Amino acid sequence: MSGQRTVAVVGAGPAGFFAAQALLAHPDLEIHVDMYDRLPTPTGLVRAGVAPDHPKIKLVSAKFEKTAAHPRFRFIGNAELGAHYTREDLVSRYDAVLYSVGAQGDRRLGVIGEALHGVVSARDFVGWYNGHPDHAQLEADLDVERAVVIGNGNVALDVARILMTPVERLRATDIAPHALDRLSEKSIREVVILGRRGAADAAFTPPEIEELAEMTGARVVIDPADLDIGDRETLPVLTQRALAAMDKYAESDTQPGPEERRITFQFRSSPVAFSGHGRVESMMLGRNVVEADEGGRRRAVDSGEREISEVGLVVRAVGYRGVPVAGLPFDEETGTIANDDGRVRGGLHEYVAGWIKRGPSGIIGTNKKCAVDTVRLVLEDLAAEDSVSEGPVDLGWLEARQPAAVSWHGWQMIDEHERAEGAASGRARVKVCDRQELVALGTSMPAPV
Ligand code: NAP
Repeated sequence: MSGQRTVAVVGAGPAGFFAAQALLAHPDLEIHVDMYDRLPTPTGLVRAGVAPDHPKIKLVSAKFEKTAAHPRFRFIGNAELGAHYTREDLVSRYDAVLYSVGAQGDRRLGVIGEALHGVVSARDFVGWYNGHPDHAQLEADLDVERAVVIGNGNVALDVARILMTPVERLRATDIAPHALDRLSEKSIREVVILGRRGAADAAFTPPEIEELAEMTGARVVIDPADLDIGDRETLPVLTQRALAAMDKYAESDTQPGPEERRITFQFRSSPVAFSGHGRVESMMLGRNVVEADEGGRRRAVDSGEREISEVGLVVRAVGYRGVPVAGLPFDEETGTIANDDGRVRGGLHEYVAGWIKRGPSGIIGTNKKCAVDTVRLVLEDLAAEDSVSEGPVDLGWLEARQPAAVSWHGWQMIDEHERAEGAASGRARVKVCDRQELVALGTSMPAPV
């Protein structure tokens, strides 16, 4: 097998970059990869999802930069599927199209008062503090005493940490400037993290729970009774480690003082209703019992017991959800594009990788295997058919529809600008959070030839 092939990758997050890397590494086929993204900036959740106080996780960007430096790679930012082009535009021009668009929606709770001002999704809140241009306008009122984060995943811990970390610690990070300003005026004293099941069912991972008190300087409060769960030896090792970290928090025999900043875990509890005049002021909780269903899965079952408490901010961190791509089959249950191990079902040389393939789970590295597995199928199919490609696709067709597309060179100009602003103010970078400004920076100078 030899010759040239062209592949469009839609979505410039980790799964897209890992796929591009695998495609470009093929020893015989000369594959040209065009990576499209709706944002002018690449790296998806590495830029807009990973918490600003976790800079080590962002180091993976260096690998993506290496991939982007490959002569057969092009980045086409600020070009959105559905707005500037359709899947037909891509399948008619490329030998294969791989969608790595992530999970762009979120799960909802479906409870009364969820639409009240002050009840926000983690997608909005995380996007807001990370400077995602679509979420920069969020009106999060942090001048409240008590916030509740719903969910027991790593995103819930990220949100709780950002809400509780003293702002002087966040200043050195790349947190969005507007978030830094607003967080510096916050008056939150307690963040409650609400889990619908028990401590042993929590989805967060050991390092994230272990670091919580140290990173925030806040007291972490856990009722020892919640950790009294019998034989732990049969539980997965990671669960045992997370429980051991929780044991340490629960050891304290003093009650936190009323003024003490704290993060309180409340398990086996679900919101039943939010209420307030114009904005959320209180929450009714239902207490759950956890029971195994017929398949052995532990489920939260409403006990009927109710509790009402005051709350000024609610962040719903109950998981993301993929959204359909026009023309592609969608699995409503899993929120993914229907696929067989990465081949889109009924697709026209179309493939998926990352969260839109397998659902919103795993860490960044999980996407590497996921993308490589899909690329194996892409290569199998590409090798089976002759291609007439004699080089990269001529992008003239897109220029007419989106004259303000941002190239990799354009992104480098944005990057340089942000880093220079950061260096001038003692910060990792100062993110530009306005789409027009990003596009202006990213299209201000043509790439050197
Ligand atoms: P997640 O890990 O799936 O956690 C979602 C949480 O929401 C679970 O505790 C789940 O409880 C709960 N939940 C779902 N529906 C609910 C409902 N109706 N009411 C109450 N609770 C509900 O999702 P995530 O936190 O969004 O994270 C997504 C992925 O990104 C995960 O794989 C995560 O590890 C990863 N991530 C990693 C890092 C990191 O490495 N530092 C940081 C952020 C995210 P049940 O278990 O009962 O369903």
